[in-house]
Amino acid sequence: MVQTGIAYHGNRMLSHVREDMRDIVAHNCTYVVHMFSENDYVRHREVLKDIVRTTHEFGLEAWIDSWGMGRVFAGEVSGWLADFPEARQVLNTGQPVAMACLLSPDYRQALKDWAEAAVATGAEAIFWDEPRLAYGSAAESGAPQWGCRCERCRGRFRELYGYEMPAELTEDVLDFRHRSVLDFFAEMTAFVHAKGKQNVLCLMPATDARFGDKNWEDFAALEHLDNLGTDPYWFGRPVQVQAYVREWAERLLSVCRRHGKDHHLWIQAFAVPAGREVEIVMAAEAAYAAGIRNIAAWGFRGSEANDYRAARPEIAWQAVGEAFRRVLWRW
Ligand SMILES: [Zn+2]
Repeated sequence: MVQTGIAYHGNRMLSHVREDMRDIVAHNCTYVVHMFSENDYVRHREVLKDIVRTTHEFGLEAWIDSWGMGRVFAGEVSGWLADFPEARQVLNTGQPVAMACLLSPDYRQALKDWAEAAVATGAEAIFWDEPRLAYGSAAESGAPQWGCRCERCRGRFRELYGYEMPAELTEDVLDFRHRSVLDFFAEMTAFVHAKGKQNVLCLMPATDARFGDKNWEDFAALEHLDNLGTDPYWFGRPVQVQAYVREWAERLLSVCRRHGKDHHLWIQAFAVPAGREVEIVMAAEAAYAAGIRNIAAWGFRGSEANDYRAARPEIAWQAVGEAFRRVLWRW
């Protein structure tokens, strides 16, 4: 069965949620990915339960997105890091950054508490959204700046490799970073699985180890990972939409098939230039032709509630409806 999802955020008023869910059904979606940011966690925990119940009333499934939690995930700001400065990642330059260290016990506990609240909404799945370790380049030299090389991580590195953690991005460092992300998700997915919910993970489309995902195989192999996805967004890149989406769709499907896992693929309905909305339909068709049967779009109404909205949100949203109609209504 084909599944079609839409990312939903920017509104916490139930009266609007009802209208939006009707709109979402009319645009051929079968599930909604609800953001559950730190702000939501603190301010809208009960409201989110109502929003998920409303989602279900419209016959849609619900995923809960770890949107910006500790800034390890995509989106949003993090106040939690200000309360737990020791949990921050430290770059190889010695500079702490506003992203949580995955070996921090405080962060792991905080994210489990968040996951508990996410599970309590009654949603079908917890969606781990684009996790990554710090990576950037120095402004002048262009030298890589990466995390995490905090005291905790250096201690663990010494235990594992028997020598002091280098400040350069060596093979052992890349391996260590990959292992730290895997170890983190092994624990988080086991926690969610024990509570009877699905674990969905989205990794960014990259073939290098910058963000700690050295390979997708090890993530797909995680015992309690149910569904692996990726998000080959193409607007703003020098790529041809169908070829780019097909390439990543095929890569994703081959990994998921090898490990017997479900898949999902995101298509871009934000930052859409005027006149190129048809590419949303082209992307969905290319993904379907490659074998993708779970397509999600970011986000609702061309993400009109965000600065990164489509130039013409209404038209982008119309294109999403058409894209999903084409993949959904087949027999
Ligand atoms: Zn660390």
